[in-house]
Amino acid sequence: MEIQVLGAHLAEVKGARLTSLLIDGAVAVDAGGLTSALSLSEQKKIETVLLTHHHFDHTRDLVTLAANAGYYWRKQLAVYAPRYTLDIVTSCLLDGKIYTDFFEYPSKEKPTLIVEAIEPYSRRTIAGYDVLAVPVKHSVPAVGYQITSSHVQRSNELSAGLFYTGDTTAGISDCWQHVSPQLLITEVAGPNKYGDWLKKAGHLCAEFLKEELIQFRQLKGYLPRVTVIHIGNPYEEEIREEVAQVAQELEADISLGYEDMKITL
Ligand SMILES: [Zn+2]
Ligand SMILES: [Zn+2]
Repeated sequence: MEIQVLGAHLAEVKGARLTSLLIDGAVAVDAGGLTSALSLSEQKKIETVLLTHHHFDHTRDLVTLAANAGYYWRKQLAVYAPRYTLDIVTSCLLDGKIYTDFFEYPSKEKPTLIVEAIEPYSRRTIAGYDVLAVPVKHSVPAVGYQITSSHVQRSNELSAGLFYTGDTTAGISDCWQHVSPQLLITEVAGPNKYGDWLKKAGHLCAEFLKEELIQFRQLKGYLPRVTVIHIGNPYEEEIREEVAQVAQELEADISLGYEDMKITL
């Protein structure tokens, strides 16, 4: 399983994209920075998009990806998310008023976009992967995804695959009992000094992440490799230092993700 970090930042600027992951070149998780990261031939391989929540920095490239898929290769894209997220995305971002209605284009019978609601805590196979959506704490309803290749799932390994929290804040340890990832991708949106504000906005700083990881280790008896994304651009060096401090204190493998980073599991 190869995981590509397409977007690792909170702000889009030259050289930094909004949150998006790509699994084995075929399954996108969040759609903040898909189309600017990939060539047309790479985009053509994407058939499935999973969304953690409706915020614009995680969904906006659904429009540009659907446009490319609809106009150039007429392939259907399946978008999976919890019902609440789908309702907002379909009625606000993909309402067919500000751009082509990709639920009717090129035809109602075979539209570019199809959506399917995902039920939290209900394991299912999507595009050949074992996918489990687990609700996380954020400022709006949001889920994280555990994604495991079906092949690994069958081998009964203790920890396997990826758990991506999406946007989240302190108090997510309830999630840990549902997942056992080899790799945890999570967020640190700002430095510790803005902890109060980050908590109110539904985000993590390094200090909060440390507490969550301590609880993970208490519950599961191990720590996965951790990659941090959704990095607040102006504070990147401060965040890097604070995350390195946590890694040292916990003797854990925690590092900041970056655009086009590839991780093989
Ligand atoms: Zn968000
Ligand atoms: Zn976000």
